Amino acid sequence: MNTRSKIELSPEDIARFGNDPTTTFAANLKAVQARIATACHRSGRPPDDVRLLPVTKTVPAHILRLAHATGISDFGENKLQEARDKQATLSDLPIRWSIIGHLQTNKVKYLVRLATEFHALDSFRLAEELNRRLDALDRDLDVFVQVNTSGEESKYGLHPADLMPFVARLSEYPRLKPRGLMTLAIFSADHERVRTCFRLLRGLRDRAVTAHASLTQLSMGMSGDFEMAIEEGADVVRVGQAIFGPRPTTNAFYWPGIIPSSTNQDVEDSS
Ligand SMILES: *Cc1c(COP(=O)(O)O)cnc(C)c1O
Repeated sequence: MNTRSKIELSPEDIARFGNDPTTTFAANLKAVQARIATACHRSGRPPDDVRLLPVTKTVPAHILRLAHATGISDFGENKLQEARDKQATLSDLPIRWSIIGHLQTNKVKYLVRLATEFHALDSFRLAEELNRRLDALDRDLDVFVQVNTSGEESKYGLHPADLMPFVARLSEYPRLKPRGLMTLAIFSADHERVRTCFRLLRGLRDRAVTAHASLTQLSMGMSGDFEMAIEEGADVVRVGQAIFGPRPTTNAFYWPGIIPSSTNQDVEDSS
């Protein structure tokens, strides 16, 4: 039986995702994969060098069912509450949930139950609490240490100067399996400024890996800048809008204080 026929699209769904989201997502996914392959080729890297993490935030759970039908099974979510709600609705599907946004310590207990990886580790307090809660469940968690490479106050993550002292103590948290570093580049039309963020993270990784051997990967690059991130060495790119279309929420909803990007100007529904 066709999955598509089981799902009723509301007028809002159709306005945002079109009449046939499954076909649209599949085509967008293919286009993004092709762009990843081209960027890899340009950088002398094999195309399977880069992992695509689809970012599903704001896409409703019933629409994500259609995305899953196209073969997308890794879902990146910025906010834990939203991930929890969706996970509850989609618990019949084999989905890997990645939490990619800033986490408050009091939410750790929910994260450890649902996430397969966490991209925004940025404090000892969080590391401590994650380790404690994971230990209680007798499980490990893949983590990326988030670094603020843009110098913008609105962005979360460790200051670059604080990274090495942080890395030096990661082995105190045996339930955390550090995989690499994560960053959000500056939102700027000036490509060189964006590239500088990615280069900075790469340089930091090259140092961090000498202190903690498993910190090899770079999680960097979004819809607007993933090709540049790949050129600068990204191993994981986190891509939402290029697959699922523009979001109704502004970037400032995720990173308070920033100027909304030009690709994402719609104001959040205040109803
Ligand atoms: C939303 C988000 C992304 C993806 O952004 P797009 O513009 O949708 O590609 C990447 N990383 C993080 C941390 C995000 O919150």
